[in-house]
Amino acid sequence: MANKNLDPVRAGGVVQFPNAKPRVRKKDLAVLDQTLLLETVLGNLSQGVSMFDADSLLVFCNQRYVDMYGLSAGLVKPGCALADILKHSVAVGSFAGNPDEYIESIRDAVAAGKTKDDTFELGNGRAFAVVTKPLEGGGWLTTHEDITKRLRADERIAHMARHDALTNLPNRMLLRERLEYELRRVGRGGSLAVLYLDLDHFKTVNDTLGHPIGDGLLKVVADRLRHCLRDADTVARLGGDEFAIIMTGVEQPTDAAALSRRIRESITKPYEIDGHQIVADISIGISIAPSDGTDPDHLLKNADMALYGAKADGRGLYRFFEPEMDARAKVRRDLEMDLRKALASNEFELFYQPLVNLQNNEITGFEALLRWNRPKSGMVSPADFIPIAEETGLIIPIGEWVLRTACRQSADWPDEMSIAVNLSPVQFKAKNLVDVVKSALEDVNMAPQRLQLEITESILMKNTFSTLQTLHKLRELGVKIAMDDFGTGYSSLSYLRSFPFDKIKIDRSFVNDLAKGVEPLAIVSAVATLANNLSMTSTAEGVETQEQLTTLQSVGCTEMQGYFFSRALPANEICALIEAKKIKGIESAA
Ligand code: C2E
Ligand code: MG
Ligand code: MG
Repeated sequence: MANKNLDPVRAGGVVQFPNAKPRVRKKDLAVLDQTLLLETVLGNLSQGVSMFDADSLLVFCNQRYVDMYGLSAGLVKPGCALADILKHSVAVGSFAGNPDEYIESIRDAVAAGKTKDDTFELGNGRAFAVVTKPLEGGGWLTTHEDITKRLRADERIAHMARHDALTNLPNRMLLRERLEYELRRVGRGGSLAVLYLDLDHFKTVNDTLGHPIGDGLLKVVADRLRHCLRDADTVARLGGDEFAIIMTGVEQPTDAAALSRRIRESITKPYEIDGHQIVADISIGISIAPSDGTDPDHLLKNADMALYGAKADGRGLYRFFEPEMDARAKVRRDLEMDLRKALASNEFELFYQPLVNLQNNEITGFEALLRWNRPKSGMVSPADFIPIAEETGLIIPIGEWVLRTACRQSADWPDEMSIAVNLSPVQFKAKNLVDVVKSALEDVNMAPQRLQLEITESILMKNTFSTLQTLHKLRELGVKIAMDDFGTGYSSLSYLRSFPFDKIKIDRSFVNDLAKGVEPLAIVSAVATLANNLSMTSTAEGVETQEQLTTLQSVGCTEMQGYFFSRALPANEICALIEAKKIKGIESAA
């Protein structure tokens, strides 16, 4: 079709250059035909090129142009109207606009002497970038590039930047963008809710079943969350086991409460992941715009604070943000900052509470209980600062201090006196726990049999295998292991079978409820019998009255601890207590 003799401009013809190969020979170079040059260049371009005159009639185009738009050779002839080409393109799906309007817009640009840039996305997913430049005399030259691949890659990158790879939910960035957008609408009236969600005990799933199962659980949770929402709402994964939801069109706070209940209902249904049955629960914090804030940061922070409140209240709950939460969070931050300095500033002290044998009414030993003398506010209860020490990891150095101090202070007590020390689950994560215990004993030359380590069921719920290994190593040192606060966790009896404990300490809530009915009594009695059968000591915690004491003795408990006998006392009063053996309550009971 290419014709050397055809000068496209002079003849007004159409030049098409099907796959033109360079046909330049050295001897021809000097006399190289301008048309051949044009033919070679245009025929090898990866872009489509077309040129129209002032009447919108085709002057020339290359083969690539014909191919891109699916045109036919019969149609694309010199002098053919752009309107006809576009109509044909519409029919074959290679042009998605309105031909007349498009031509009009080209004419306007040409008249204004402006270059026109267009991107056309076609229904079939393809996309063309079209650049039209005006020519002298009213015509124009257009280049056409197929940008489908580039556009898809750009879209993928943009998607990845705004979505979480595991669940394909929007990530924090997209959540913020949507929240900003929705808040602008709320600025004109109405309200929205931000829900901050966190799976309860997700870490246990990861630690015990492994990360692939944890990931599998997160994916199903993401699906269930999606299904709880309307199209206008957004659920995002913020990372780990944290999610956030923007609920739009909230008429009253109860709407957000109803959604939270729906979500819990869905999330607490059992999961089957790779053959593992898993149950999960979720805690939710809610903030409402505009009353709790009008910018994304503020609303998310307040919802997070409400979530913290939900967790503190026992998990598996939803809580609305309340301004007092802000104040409480400040108190907590303050406490945390002071706690970081407490060890170096010698603000800790150990108090000791006696344990009494219920058969002969003699003191068998003492439990070391940590006290924090905080200069700002006086004594702080361990119940208030141990959880913070655990969250921050400070419990590791503090726990080591407790061990060493308890061994040192009790070293001069009579040999038969045991010393009990509480261990936090977090201390089991430190690889050197066994070495620390060993060196605390060796430093003061203490017989390992005198040391009792109290652990709670929660230790066994986490990372069971390595925990059991550590427990066995501790037992090999000769140290005794006690199960503390028994009955407050889950499936307690199975934990008793997982390790040969030396002692069970029955939680004080059971002792407290003894008078309230038959059930607590039956439980205490069953635990005492079980302990006796397994040759374990059964210690009743929190004994405050003579009646409790009598009942506990009658069901076969072997040891007690409680205010009825003595509160925890400072170290310097212990020798006097042992000396005096003032077993006030016990004597009257005996
Ligand atoms: P726990 O190990 O169960 O300790 C017994 C708690 O019950 C102590 O509270 C004790 O003062 C209290 N108690 C004893 N007798 C009675 C009674 O008759 N009535 C009532 N109502 N309470 C009684 P405390 O000292 O406030 O300790 C609370 C918890 O803090 C401990 O519970 C233990 O879990 C933790 N803790 C204390 N010291 C340490 C420590 O050094 N390390 C770790 N990891 N945890 C500690
Ligand atoms: Mg204890
Ligand atoms: Mg206890």
